Amino acid sequence: MSIAKNLTKIKSQLPPHVTLVAVSKTKPVADLMEAYSSGQRVFGENKIQEMTEKWEQMPKDIEWHMIGHVQTNKVKFMAEYVSLIHGVDSLKLLQEINKQAKKHNRTIDCLLQIHIAEEETKFGLDELELNEILTQVYEQCEAKQVQNDKSEFENIRIAGLMGMATFTENQNQIEKEFNHLKTLFDKINQLSIINYQLSILSMGMSGDYQLAISCGSTMVRIGSSIFGNRNYQ
Ligand SMILES: *Cc1c(COP(=O)(O)O)cnc(C)c1O
Repeated sequence: MSIAKNLTKIKSQLPPHVTLVAVSKTKPVADLMEAYSSGQRVFGENKIQEMTEKWEQMPKDIEWHMIGHVQTNKVKFMAEYVSLIHGVDSLKLLQEINKQAKKHNRTIDCLLQIHIAEEETKFGLDELELNEILTQVYEQCEAKQVQNDKSEFENIRIAGLMGMATFTENQNQIEKEFNHLKTLFDKINQLSIINYQLSILSMGMSGDYQLAISCGSTMVRIGSSIFGNRNYQ
């Protein structure tokens, strides 16, 4: 099937409140352009250099999402244009994103990545670390506002949470992990840990996006079901 047909099929299955991130890592610009021509405007990449090369070559009305693990020293290469960074998992990284965003006079939206899988290899925060980061960012804002000063985190906005389920065939396990992430998301919003509502819950990939949506996902990151299998060399 063609990229355009794959996209049409997937989009017909998504409720209106769910955003589709077309994960185009390893794929050539020609493939991305095919998706672009059929209306896709949100693309996800997991390497900053590759994303920047594609950003330079492609139309400027595209939203670029960084979905991979981010090294602090590479934030500067995407700060000018990145729309959403999915994999933020430390205060240090948030500080660097804030610093680089400031240089471009922008606010960069970030998602905090939560560790929901059984596997040790996947990055992410646990609930305690998540609460620590939220309180640090938010309390710093509060404290600075009292002094009528600029907040330390003025150039970032935590827009939601992101997670990746265990790579397994076991649907019950995946469902349990997605539900765990959704529970955390709701808890933050209900307890008003921050003074606005988190709006983005990024979970679900080619193999599990329907399950993720039924568990409350608002953003799915789909690669191989759109562009075909990836060929890593
Ligand atoms: C590659 C990747 C995806 C897309 O995976 P598919 O199974 O090809 O849909 C989604 N999220 C992240 C973080 C990825 O690295």
